[in-house]
Amino acid sequence: MREIKKILIANRGEIALRVIKTAKEMGIKTVTIYTEKEKSYPHSYMGDESYCLGEGALSETYLNQAKIIDIAKKSGADAIHPGYGFLSENGTFADRVISEGIIFIGPRSESMLIMGDKKTSKQKMEELGIPLIPGYHGDNQEENFLREQAVKIGFPVLVKASAGGGGKGMRVVWKEEEFLEGLQSAMREAKNAFGDDTVLIEKYITNPRHIEVQVMSDSHGNHLHFFERECSIQRRHQKIVEETPSVALSDELRKEITESAVAISSGIDYLGAGTIEYILDDDGRFYFLEMNTRLQVEHPVTEMVTGVDLVRMQIIAASGQRIEMKQSEIQQKGHAIEVRLYSEDPDNNFLPATGKISCVGYPLLNGVRLDSGYVDGNEVTVNFDPMLAKLIAWGESRESATEKILNSLDDIPFLGVKTNRDYLKRILSTEEFAKGITYTHFVETFKDKLLKKDETEHQIAMAIAAFLINERKQKPAQSGQSVWQSSFGFRNV
Ligand code: ADP
Repeated sequence: MREIKKILIANRGEIALRVIKTAKEMGIKTVTIYTEKEKSYPHSYMGDESYCLGEGALSETYLNQAKIIDIAKKSGADAIHPGYGFLSENGTFADRVISEGIIFIGPRSESMLIMGDKKTSKQKMEELGIPLIPGYHGDNQEENFLREQAVKIGFPVLVKASAGGGGKGMRVVWKEEEFLEGLQSAMREAKNAFGDDTVLIEKYITNPRHIEVQVMSDSHGNHLHFFERECSIQRRHQKIVEETPSVALSDELRKEITESAVAISSGIDYLGAGTIEYILDDDGRFYFLEMNTRLQVEHPVTEMVTGVDLVRMQIIAASGQRIEMKQSEIQQKGHAIEVRLYSEDPDNNFLPATGKISCVGYPLLNGVRLDSGYVDGNEVTVNFDPMLAKLIAWGESRESATEKILNSLDDIPFLGVKTNRDYLKRILSTEEFAKGITYTHFVETFKDKLLKKDETEHQIAMAIAAFLINERKQKPAQSGQSVWQSSFGFRNV
């Protein structure tokens, strides 16, 4: 066991602030890193110490392993928390950190290696007897052989890049005649994105839900789960709404899926926080998809419903302490929903948006949490992740959590930059969401419902406004009227 007194956070934005919060509560000092252009962002000054990484590409800054380890040593940090993204699932980095005598707050590199590749992870799951989507995940990559496998599986099938992530290198193929074309295009995309065109073939589940289980393990053989999250509402395979509990799980199914997750974490002798992702079909069968060997963006919904601090658990596990908690003590209470606020324009093909935030706002209601890395005056640029914030609400029931989050979205306007705030409201206001008809194709299926409703009203209002402005422009400010009161191209435009 080693005591952790100072943590370097090898990340930025909301997740850096999230780690600082728990570290502060535990009396642990923090060291943050930031780039030259981020001096005004809170992660650059909220830690106890901060170091500038300079300028340049990510490889020079947040992905520069040598520089980060150097800062950890210089500042006397005894542990590194990688957050999510960046170096969080990089086994080489974890090993380098450990070889320098620094604790890596995350799993062992062997777990990252097995789980970092869809093909090897499936092979491991097969050994453990975990249900897999019917498919082929072997070594033979010959085109005709793969086509035969697809026929055997039965169409539609999904061709998936083994090294894939973020929905890249995936193609749905509906019939045999289209197989080779789909295969080649998935391989091309995989080669470009990951430098590896190895693929696997899976049965395409037509009405799937995305269900994942939060696991946490210490180094004393305790493998716990913190129940499920449903993250079916996605756009281009990116999650936008997450909730727990899932409306799709009966108590029996919940027991089965969480037991399967614990069988995986104990089967690979896992350490720390992880998420096991499953696909659930319409007949209530679940299949292993992949395991993420880090803290997830959507971890707060689990924290709200189980009342645990997952970052605290990560720190305890990494320092070699025992997690003093029994599975039976972990319960789900109430319901939590998270929405991800992005800087984009849903009414203009989700075009990325930039601008200076003049007002973030803050949630007023009890049981609502805003995790954001931005404060008023910060610039939103295309250099980093478009996620501005996560808004999470807890309620006694799913209905009250939905109502709270809808109300609270009004409290955080993020003025100055276009966001998907109204789009999120439209999703949460549909009767399908209320009924829990949440499949991964939700936004595609209900795209007409999710269009801006008041388009015509809005256009009429704009026309009237333009008319009035024009009218006033014809009449310059009268004496005694300040220039601000006349709308001569200064205000109200
Ligand atoms: P990535 O690592 O690129 O995110 P995943 O394997 O985790 O890829 O899948 C991402 C999403 O794609 C899932 O959440 C689900 O919506 C969809 N998906 C993946 N596999 C299947 C499948 N066999 N059938 C239907 N949808 C799938």
